[in-house]
Amino acid sequence: MISASEGTSGISVRVPAKINLELRVGPLRHDGYHDLATVFHAVDLVDHITVRPAQDWRITVEGTDAHLVPTDDSNLALAAAKMLAGTHAQQAYPVHVHICKQIPVAGGMAGGSADAAGALVACDALWGLGLGLGVDGLHEYAARLGSDVNFALVGGTAIGSGRGENVVPALTAGQYEWVVVQAEGGLSTPAVFRELDRLREDRPVDAPQPTAEMLGALRAGDIDSLAACLNNDLEEPAFSLRPELAEVRDAGLMLGAAGGLVSGSGPTIVFLARDRHAANDLAAALVNSGAATRVHTATGPVPGAQVVEWEDRP
Ligand code: ATP
Repeated sequence: MISASEGTSGISVRVPAKINLELRVGPLRHDGYHDLATVFHAVDLVDHITVRPAQDWRITVEGTDAHLVPTDDSNLALAAAKMLAGTHAQQAYPVHVHICKQIPVAGGMAGGSADAAGALVACDALWGLGLGLGVDGLHEYAARLGSDVNFALVGGTAIGSGRGENVVPALTAGQYEWVVVQAEGGLSTPAVFRELDRLREDRPVDAPQPTAEMLGALRAGDIDSLAACLNNDLEEPAFSLRPELAEVRDAGLMLGAAGGLVSGSGPTIVFLARDRHAANDLAAALVNSGAATRVHTATGPVPGAQVVEWEDRP
């Protein structure tokens, strides 16, 4: 592996959080995973990943809840950079990865996966690998890093299958306004899946598929139809593990949200609002009523990981 002088040109990538508009979970597989059918939707709650040449590999994190993010090799952004370097030793060199975090940590919004996708795009550009998003490009690495990393590369609204790593863009119209309620503490994704299996006992479960109603609502850009189709199989187990989350969901619906559900494996709850104004009003009402303390508004869909800044472009 070649080395580069510290402090020369760096690259910043912006990468969005995801919510799942629909998340259908199939039966437990023999390998311990579940097949999923999901509709991913990228929103403009974003992390920024900056990579700069360094003498040694390094990772730093700033932003709300930065202290909850690991700063060792288990950090998915660092793992992604090192994985890419491992197969491109001729061009790659150690980098300092810096994450500026806005996406809630362990909130079911795939923040770690987003950071991994951001690091892949940033290192691809910095090292001049030219992998991009085509066949044999960054998607191959993304799938090895985690189930949600492929979606963070493409963003928009997309149908995910397999463990979520097979991603196909969905036909959609319009933009949607969301209110994102961040709960205190995280929920472990494996624990939520285990609770789902426990609640299902031995009930037979069909192979998961996105519903025709959801895909039709997205094509039409119809808020009421979309609100009626929002669905997450992980909501019941998340509520079972954290009953207070159901109260937050109910409060948002009472306060006028068009729809609401747990995001991914939770504990974040997202509400669909009629427009930007309604989203701001709902966010304020949730805080004023005491139902929530940490609230964001967000718009979707937005693109996946994108380079936003080159320092001293070569
Ligand atoms: P999952 O993808 O498992 O559903 P999530 O979306 O609920 O996760 P993340 O924000 O990705 O939540 O964090 C899950 C865990 O991943 C964290 O508790 C943290 O220990 C670890 N992690 C590793 N790298 C990162 C990263 N760059 N940002 C956030 N968390 C990270």
